Amino acid sequence: MSATLTLVRGDITRQSADAIVNAANSSLLGGGGVDGAIHRRGGPAILEECRRLRASRYGEGLPTGRAVATTAGDLDARWVIHTVGPVFSREEDRSALLASCYRESLRVADGLGARTVAFPAVSTGVYGWPMEDAARIAVQTVRDAETAVEEIRFVLFDEQAYAAFAARLR
Ligand code: ADP
Repeated sequence: MSATLTLVRGDITRQSADAIVNAANSSLLGGGGVDGAIHRRGGPAILEECRRLRASRYGEGLPTGRAVATTAGDLDARWVIHTVGPVFSREEDRSALLASCYRESLRVADGLGARTVAFPAVSTGVYGWPMEDAARIAVQTVRDAETAVEEIRFVLFDEQAYAAFAARLR
């Protein structure tokens, strides 16, 4: 893959990128964490488009591991790509679904012609995925992805998350 991987510590809603990925939930109707922050700062246009997607294509919700784009509203981006991470489980290996979030988001980004894509650490908040393992899956998946995206930026909210991703990029 030719995309450059970069790491930033900070708030993903403050990033400037073609596409900002949202760690959404399957309802597409908003939640806490990254999702709440994106809707707060991005304004109502994002939720409006999510509602339309719910009504037209995703009546049952967006399946885990899939991704779909909307406007980015007032964010400094052209699109928000909503992806639904798996809830972490000790009984069941859901790694393939987490990898799918990154792969599908990049596929959607490619379809849009996005050159820069900012990702949060999907599933590592409310969904409980251990940070080191999530970082391993995220970095490995985007490294292996066939994509025309030129810069893939991981935006990590705290020092522990940043350190986990940095260790994988080294
Ligand atoms: P999930 O439901 O997929 O676990 P969360 O939004 O709860 O998603 O958390 C995903 C990760 O994003 C967590 O590591 C959390 O600390 C981090 N996070 C929360 N808010 C922001 C933000 N504004 N920018 C970047 N990362 C954030």
